[in-house]
Amino acid sequence: IKGVQSKVFYGQLTYQPKACYACGHVFDDQIIKHGFKTSLIKMPSISGFHTYLKLRKQRYFCKHCHSTFTLKTSVVAKNCCISNNTKVSIALNAKDKISEKDIAMKHNVSHATVSRVIDSFYSYYQPNVHYLPKHLCFDEFKSVKSAAGAMSFIFCDSETGEIVDIVEDRRLHVLKEYFLRYSKKARDAVKTIVIDMYSPYISLIHEVFPKAEIVLDKFHILQLFSRALNKTRINVMNRDKKNYNKLKKYWKLLLKDQTKLDYKNYTYHRCFKKHMCEVEILHYLIDLDSELKASYELYQYVQHCIKTKDFEL
Ligand SMILES: [Zn+2]
Repeated sequence: IKGVQSKVFYGQLTYQPKACYACGHVFDDQIIKHGFKTSLIKMPSISGFHTYLKLRKQRYFCKHCHSTFTLKTSVVAKNCCISNNTKVSIALNAKDKISEKDIAMKHNVSHATVSRVIDSFYSYYQPNVHYLPKHLCFDEFKSVKSAAGAMSFIFCDSETGEIVDIVEDRRLHVLKEYFLRYSKKARDAVKTIVIDMYSPYISLIHEVFPKAEIVLDKFHILQLFSRALNKTRINVMNRDKKNYNKLKKYWKLLLKDQTKLDYKNYTYHRCFKKHMCEVEILHYLIDLDSELKASYELYQYVQHCIKTKDFEL
């Protein structure tokens, strides 16, 4: 078929219809057989071959209304050459991480067909603008290339973890417009919103969710401290040429939870030219500079507070 070796099944569709498809007249001897119409129907592939059903469909002529009609089958929709099973297979394939183009190739159909089939199977999600969960979580993620902003916005119910909706663009004016679609009552019902330290969220929440309390995500707080510690380390590193390699190589030790540092296993470290354990290396590094030492202690302190959930501290 079209120069490609394919599997072709041959079939004939014939049965006595209940009535004329055109005028609805109940079947009688005035509705007569009127030749066949053959169509080539694309089926789901078999053993990797493009597969077709060459189907001869019985045609009838109705003497009551002088029209002709072709028998219907559940294999394929009227005036269509792609079997219903192929469409289902395309829709199921759309759940996988695969491009529409690849699905089209796999099913021997055009890209446009794949888009159309997906649209017909999956209706677009419409959030209820009169309801929002009491506790929300905001976050962003790197979206697909075609998305308007560099980052897309996602928010979920922080109690159930269920995604409420995704907004293509996380910029403030877009989000503001988006959330204003929700009724005031729905927005006022929101009690807490967990966010990272992306400052536009704070002004957004003040404006759109006046009754909600802002909760900063603890992982982002720690991240802020670890970045600051890294910055201090790099400053010391660039100042102290003698210890440059050591400060560069053992950066992970500074970020590691203090209580998990190894103090028993001595291994050979080439930049120190001797056997050392993690604790010894760490003390060597933080003793190089008083600011680095203070930063390190603060970072470990914050990490401890978060880990033990000691909010007072
Ligand atoms: Zn008729």
